[in-house]
Amino acid sequence: MRDRDLYAKILNLPEPWMVVDVELDLPGKSVTVLLGRRAGAALLCPECRAACPGYDSQPRRWRHLDTCQFQTILAAEVPRCACPEHGVKQVRVPWAEPGSRFTALFEHLAIDWMQECGRSATARQLDLSWSEADGIMQRAVDRGLGRRPATTVPVLGVDEKSFQGREFVTVVCDLDGGTVLHVADGRGSAALQECYGAMTAEQRDAVEAVAMDMHQPYVLATQSALPDATIVFDKFHIAKLAGEAVDQVRRREAKRLADEGDDRLKGTRYGWLRNPLDEDREQRRAFEPLRRSKLQTARGWAIKETLMGFFDYFQPARAQRFFLKWYDWAIRSRLPPFKRLARTLRSRLQTLLNWCKWPITNAVTEALNSKIQWIKYTARGFRSREGYRRAIYFHCGALKLYPQGI
Ligand SMILES: [Zn+2]
Repeated sequence: MRDRDLYAKILNLPEPWMVVDVELDLPGKSVTVLLGRRAGAALLCPECRAACPGYDSQPRRWRHLDTCQFQTILAAEVPRCACPEHGVKQVRVPWAEPGSRFTALFEHLAIDWMQECGRSATARQLDLSWSEADGIMQRAVDRGLGRRPATTVPVLGVDEKSFQGREFVTVVCDLDGGTVLHVADGRGSAALQECYGAMTAEQRDAVEAVAMDMHQPYVLATQSALPDATIVFDKFHIAKLAGEAVDQVRRREAKRLADEGDDRLKGTRYGWLRNPLDEDREQRRAFEPLRRSKLQTARGWAIKETLMGFFDYFQPARAQRFFLKWYDWAIRSRLPPFKRLARTLRSRLQTLLNWCKWPITNAVTEALNSKIQWIKYTARGFRSREGYRRAIYFHCGALKLYPQGI
């Protein structure tokens, strides 16, 4: 079989395209497959598919899947036609999407690689520049978002994700499906409003509950865009705030004790923060005397652990009774960080009680969170926030990413 026939078979080109020639560059380790059109074949406008008169042609090249270790390029003179309705347009080629410098099969391969190992490693493996790999990812995400059906999602999770230390993006996800729906720059009201604005009115109406941190800009954006949705504060965020209060008490007390020559609190930070249920017997035995001591830190720790009992209640009246008891204790604790926390929670008690009806938390998207951590890790060299957002959609959006017809 001659090389021309071989590539005609491999590429399986539809009419009127055919393989005209194959050029092998042994030292350059590349194969260029020249493609041409059967003479007299009709030129179809890419917009309306009407047969139109020819205008001119332009040389184009596409990177294709390698032939063994040989980088393989498809090359063709692609005609432009003059459509009376749409003007001068390049005709569509069956092996690549408009504007791409890669064949659809190559993009498919690159997408598979990027899903496994991210942009940088894919660029290295496939001998692409970072921006070429990024361009393939961008087209894949644009395709995926364009194809995504406007399905309704009853339970949303809203969270902020850091980016290069001090910058943030806001991520809205489908808590049941475990997928990212929207990503916007920043963590203010406007960011979340942008996400809600990208939803259809029907999608907004269908949202019944939204889990989020006690973050006022998110509360305001949700109240204004989804007035009928129930806001639920994430219990792990509240646990984190209470843990920070314990830590503040510990730091101040440790300093005071150290000044008096008492080093009981030295090196105990993580002991106070960890969940007692996660401890082994040894750790518990070592820590128990401290927890039972009369130290302020031990009191703060008990106040924190008791607060978490709130999330065991499913009847609002009982939950409220429990909370108010806890509040009295915390407010009289003479521990300023807990007095502050108690006041904050008291002022949001009505929203806190929504937990009883909607015991939802962003922790169900833990798999998503670790994927986003992985994205950050594998793309240390993010050039823009846009690139970070794109990667989140690519890896966490459950989008249909492949080029058409593949
Ligand atoms: Zn047309």
